[in-house]
Amino acid sequence: PELSAAGIRSTFLDFFRQKHGHLLVPSSPVRPRGDPSLLFVNAGMNQFKPIFLGTVDPRSDMASYRRVVNSQKCVRAGGKHNDLEDVGRDVYHHTFFEMLGNWSFGDYFKEEACLMAWSLLTEHYGIPADRLYVSYFAGDAASGLTADEDTRQIWLDIGVPPSHLLPFGLKENFWEMGDSGPCGPCTEIHYDHVGGRDAASLVNADSPDVVEIWNLVFMQYNREVDNSLRLLPQFSVDTGMGLERLVSVLQGKRSNYDTDLFTPLIHDIHQVVRVVMVGPYSGRMGAADHGKVDMAYRVVSDHIRTLSVCIADGVHPGMSGAELVLRRILRRAVRFCVEVLQAPQGALASLVPTVVHTLGDVYPELHREADRIMDVINENEDHFLSSLQQGSRLIHRTLNKMDYKHGVFPASVAWSLHRDLGFPLDLVDLILEEKGVQVDPQELDRLIAENHKQSGERSQVMLDILSLAELQRLAVPHTDDGLKYQYRLDQDRYI
Ligand code: ATP
Ligand code: MG
Ligand code: MG
Ligand code: MG
Repeated sequence: PELSAAGIRSTFLDFFRQKHGHLLVPSSPVRPRGDPSLLFVNAGMNQFKPIFLGTVDPRSDMASYRRVVNSQKCVRAGGKHNDLEDVGRDVYHHTFFEMLGNWSFGDYFKEEACLMAWSLLTEHYGIPADRLYVSYFAGDAASGLTADEDTRQIWLDIGVPPSHLLPFGLKENFWEMGDSGPCGPCTEIHYDHVGGRDAASLVNADSPDVVEIWNLVFMQYNREVDNSLRLLPQFSVDTGMGLERLVSVLQGKRSNYDTDLFTPLIHDIHQVVRVVMVGPYSGRMGAADHGKVDMAYRVVSDHIRTLSVCIADGVHPGMSGAELVLRRILRRAVRFCVEVLQAPQGALASLVPTVVHTLGDVYPELHREADRIMDVINENEDHFLSSLQQGSRLIHRTLNKMDYKHGVFPASVAWSLHRDLGFPLDLVDLILEEKGVQVDPQELDRLIAENHKQSGERSQVMLDILSLAELQRLAVPHTDDGLKYQYRLDQDRYI
């Protein structure tokens, strides 16, 4: 019988807890506590940062942690680790995912960490060793970091053949939490979904055939705010494995969306849209996915998990930082629901019980907050759709009055739409683009500057305005995901 995601998760936790004496620590909320360097919790290690840095309060429970295991709720949709743009376009990056991890704080180091990981994957989960490839840190002369030969030797001793052992540089094999924070060389385990050939060239090549599953980081440094590396007081092990990817491997699926973490959601999405004859999910990608229907299924099933988990943890759609990111995620989900899947209003929130059903046993706050999550989603959807409607009407009236062959829309109208109706300015742009018209950028900049002077501070409204001005500088409009309009932008700078 096929192993369920729940069984796979608990096998991991039990392996480290029972067999190797690790303490099970609950997931922290996705809203980082007292760490301004982070928008969302992006890795299991975040809550242990004070231990790595040696700044932990000696009276706290954490002070006694030596071996720890957990399954952490992670969101990668902003900041250094931002996967929003990949979601729906590939089948293994999510905005929300669960990271399974084990830690040693000044206890075991490289050898035991590698041995335990290998034994869990190949013996307990039964993954054939010849499907696994291992990468290790090749060193970086410019930063004075040498290659991690110890780790290479450890893998050779374990029996990984040299042809499956691959050196990579800073980008792939030197893990960093953010622009600053704990970091160190890492060794990663990748899975070949196809088999029967030499797949070494597909490792770290963005191929859906060979996917990274587990990262073992050897924390040795702290990246200081001045970008220098400081040696940490003690060496630690920090590992992270994406549950959704592991489940796809063990359930023999090429896509995370075909595992039991997502199929109930995909099924429910089809139920709510079937009235309008949108077909069932068929897993098509890229150009084969006509009308981007399958992409919509993937995006909506991903985003509803993220929205549920974030709202349960007290991050609401809003106007800055993590809340702005969540607002974008919500709007993106609503637009895919309405425009691509033609789902009725309320469809998004109707998926929440299924999220609660698949994740609530592990993260009980989802059970507790289910009603509130649905209310917040419905309220925001409502607000978004009605401002969309009102704004569109005004824009179209303006367009009818002007001779829009010139292609320039008066910035003053865009500005007043925003100020008086709270109409999101990126949406003004969006509707205009469908007509081949643009807001006058110089005029808009001038209005922004004027308002900036008047108010003397960056009000919430200003934030949205500035976002648009920034969008116009940073973003390249593209149309390849089924929405008539979507920006590909430098999220790190934008957010
Ligand atoms: P990738 O190279 O695939 O983007 P990563 O190197 O950024 O992954 P790590 O920071 O090493 O990921 O995180 C540890 C593990 O978490 C990864 O090996 C992977 O299994 C999982 N993971 C990372 N990002 C995501 C994501 N966006 N969605 C699902 N799982 C993820
Ligand atoms: Mg990544
Ligand atoms: Mg990687
Ligand atoms: Mg990695």
